Amino acid sequence: AQWGATLAGGYTAAAARSPRGIAVIDEDGTETTFAGLRAEANRLAASLRTVGVGPGGTVAVMARNHSAMVKTLLACAYLGAGSVLLNTGLARPQIGDAIRRHAVRVLVADGEFAEQVAGMPLKAVVLTGADDGPPGQPTLGEIIAEAPEAEFGPPRRPARIVVLTSGTTGAPKGARRPTPKGLGSAVALLSRIPLHTGDRMLMAAPLFHSWGLSALQVGMPLRATLVLQRRFDPEACLRAIQEHRCTTMFAVPVMLQRIMALPEQVRRRYDTSSLRVVASSGSALPASLVTEFMDAFGDVLYNFYGSTEVSAASVATPQDLRAAPSTAGYPPLGTRLAVLGPTGEPVPPGAVGGIFVGNDLLFDGYTDGTSRVTRDELMDTGDRGYLDADGRLFVAGRDDDMIVSGGENVFPRPVEEALTELPGVADVAVLGVPDDEFGQRLVAFVTVEPGARLDPDLVRDYLRRRVARFAVPREVVFVDELPRTPTGKVIKRVLLEDEWAGRAAP
Ligand code: ATP
Repeated sequence: AQWGATLAGGYTAAAARSPRGIAVIDEDGTETTFAGLRAEANRLAASLRTVGVGPGGTVAVMARNHSAMVKTLLACAYLGAGSVLLNTGLARPQIGDAIRRHAVRVLVADGEFAEQVAGMPLKAVVLTGADDGPPGQPTLGEIIAEAPEAEFGPPRRPARIVVLTSGTTGAPKGARRPTPKGLGSAVALLSRIPLHTGDRMLMAAPLFHSWGLSALQVGMPLRATLVLQRRFDPEACLRAIQEHRCTTMFAVPVMLQRIMALPEQVRRRYDTSSLRVVASSGSALPASLVTEFMDAFGDVLYNFYGSTEVSAASVATPQDLRAAPSTAGYPPLGTRLAVLGPTGEPVPPGAVGGIFVGNDLLFDGYTDGTSRVTRDELMDTGDRGYLDADGRLFVAGRDDDMIVSGGENVFPRPVEEALTELPGVADVAVLGVPDDEFGQRLVAFVTVEPGARLDPDLVRDYLRRRVARFAVPREVVFVDELPRTPTGKVIKRVLLEDEWAGRAAP
């Protein structure tokens, strides 16, 4: 069961059962069959072995969503080598740091990142050839073409995959994915979401992030076809759904937001009736977006709450979301979810506490050797929220984002959601800044839709009618753009450093 639950085992089984089935469709329409994927990944593994990659070795991957990325992961799995997935938004110092910390010797990268990784202490840099790289460097395709045919059996120990956390709150941390003990947890998740054998899955979320990677791992035993697009574009995404008759899409909220921001006549140009499941995760799904999206695309939306560390902790189905648009739903079978107070006691329904999760998908610790406080094998998510009387989870926000102003605890999310509904507001982030009198005070950073006119007083007046007095930001700052991670999360510390510290300086 263990071999079957790993990437290498799963794809080997898929290639045996439906060799001619389509495993991956690339952005340019190129199709790779399961047999083709297995053969090419085996040859790539053979050639990676010649540059010294083997069991216990580590390959870093910095790539967008395409078949070469999947082949690389699979080749590492065949070799029993670890892989570290680098976020494509990382800057040179962070890449250097990740390479050093994980003792990486070989890097597989898209050509667009070649300059960024030049001169790093690596034995080899292999370009994926999925875009125009610098001339003279052999690409992955050429390497595969020249490699001898090979057939790797199950590695003695399963390959370790390390993903980096999003770096929303600090430097990205390397998180070891758990070694799957079987398919149990995946099956439990599937019981809450109608994924089927042979599904066509549009992977809009990046594969380097735990959400995209989880989707790939869930799709594998289903012999699903992965429809990959190098980078997200809302209209190209709708076009791909129509063209490939996609049944499922994995996305992060900001992508759904960008689809809904398309003019309605553009949206209506595409036939998306094949869609059965649109799964969203990675950050909070605003209630207004939930309703708008389902009104436009039907009852297909699933909201997954989870993280790099706990994987999927709860899921809200379209029915759950129709009943309560802001819920993160219920934990799947086999997952324990608890909301605990400061002393570790469960708090009553409706009361906000720390969210703790236990399941067999929990990560195997950070690569720096630390883990996260666990009580009774429950992991502290670092998020706060509450369960209602029906056991539905509502996520209030991160511990770190909670603002204590004049003794009141304020979570930015409801304020942000209210602000998003003000006509003319395009994007918003609310955070706390140090305040001599109140400890912290709230500041709203707002981007305005083209042509719209807003001023701070108007924004504050509007909010006074929507949220508690102490939750109305004392200042409103208009900015051109909010800094976001490639997975669409606003990086609040960058806002503080770049927009706030600069203003406050004498
Ligand atoms: P870092 O740990 O480096 O700061 P990160 O925590 O953003 O990065 P991820 O593991 O990608 O890294 O994000 C998980 C977090 O995203 C969760 O802890 C939670 O705060 C938020 N999140 C994810 N899904 C949802 C959801 N459906 N609803 C609300 N919040 C969500």
